[in-house]
Amino acid sequence: MRAVDIIIKKRDKQELTLEEIEFFVRGFTNGDIPDYQTSAFAMAILLNGMTPRETTDLTLAMAHSGSMLDLSDVVDLAVDKHSSGGVGDKTSLSVLPIVAACGLPVGKMSGRGLGFSGGTLDKLESIPGYRVDLSTEEFKQQLKEKGIVLTGQSLDLAPADGKLYALRDVTGTVQSIPLIASSIMCKKLAAGAQVILLDVKTGLGAFMETLEDARELANLMTDIGKLANREVVALLSDMNQPLGNAVGNSLEVVEAIDMLKSRGPEDYAEHCLYVSAHMLVLGKLARDLSEGRAMAEKCIADGSAFQKLRILVEAQGGDVSYVDDPSKFPKAEFVEVVMSPRSGYLSEIQARTVGEAAVTLGAGRAKKSDPVDHAVGFIIHHKVGDKVEGGELLFTVHANDEAKLADARESVLSAHHFSNQPVEKLPLFYN
Ligand code: URA
Repeated sequence: MRAVDIIIKKRDKQELTLEEIEFFVRGFTNGDIPDYQTSAFAMAILLNGMTPRETTDLTLAMAHSGSMLDLSDVVDLAVDKHSSGGVGDKTSLSVLPIVAACGLPVGKMSGRGLGFSGGTLDKLESIPGYRVDLSTEEFKQQLKEKGIVLTGQSLDLAPADGKLYALRDVTGTVQSIPLIASSIMCKKLAAGAQVILLDVKTGLGAFMETLEDARELANLMTDIGKLANREVVALLSDMNQPLGNAVGNSLEVVEAIDMLKSRGPEDYAEHCLYVSAHMLVLGKLARDLSEGRAMAEKCIADGSAFQKLRILVEAQGGDVSYVDDPSKFPKAEFVEVVMSPRSGYLSEIQARTVGEAAVTLGAGRAKKSDPVDHAVGFIIHHKVGDKVEGGELLFTVHANDEAKLADARESVLSAHHFSNQPVEKLPLFYN
């Protein structure tokens, strides 16, 4: 078999066999198939799609590219969550400590920034020393001892996704239902989850712009989970405007800490409580969502959720003094406040434009080898539906380069749209 023939087959809109998919995944994981062929393969899939059968085969091949964790000797029921990615989506950083503090052990494999959306691993790495490459043994040991793990793909765990993900980020091959579904589900299967809560985002700042596409992605991932004998529940959440206020790596970590201290933005706090309540119900610790929510609120109020975050950071080698004192995170050289050019009701805050502007500031990558600047990003001070006066604070830019700052200011200003008439707030979730 030759990689080039498989690329040509997909380019010509034909269905790949299980053997071809396994050959390709094995080849790019062990380095026999170079990045340029893997990128062409991803582009052919993005352009021509995959059948559900091909997507399932791709998912399983990527899951089996490393070890498959069996957590049955560590936890009674392994519950996990994953978001399909969005702007300002730092949910895992608050939700994992909350549910772990409520008594639900949770070990999760996250990803890095992808296209215009930030990634949990990049955010966590703004804490000096934090390791995101735990081995399977370390994963299991930490889950058993601490009840919480937040790591990434490694040589042991879903290495195929680690490679493909980094290429998709910089080759315009993110927005593909089969590639997203296989990327998310291979990590969940490899990490041993029996029950999986998916937060599928839809809107301007999501990879699935329409509710219809988000449903298709949710259904596909649910079907893959069923075939692999896992229970999957999918939520559909709004991603038309950034979630919370902070966009950018360390800025988002600080906001997640604030949420655990009951000082987070209202939309972000509500979103996290809802996701936490679902996880607690799926983990059979709460009878219903209202009981789950009350448990989550209690763990925030009594400080145990915040303590869990400290335990997580310490266990993975991070400097916990940054969690205790977030003012220690390095500041960007230029911090500029931008005032509203006019009065009115905010009718849109184009989340994708904000995410792209954050990447341009250095919060994400243009090339695979690019370092991430953890300090840069934005604080967006308002939500759609807010009434804003001319001259009132609209957003703050954190930048390390004056020219990039000027471009980012203009982009994010243009992302704010106003109406003279009152505008309804956006929902957090859809049915
Ligand atoms: N999250 C992932 O892990 N992979 C994707 O492709 C998108 C979101």
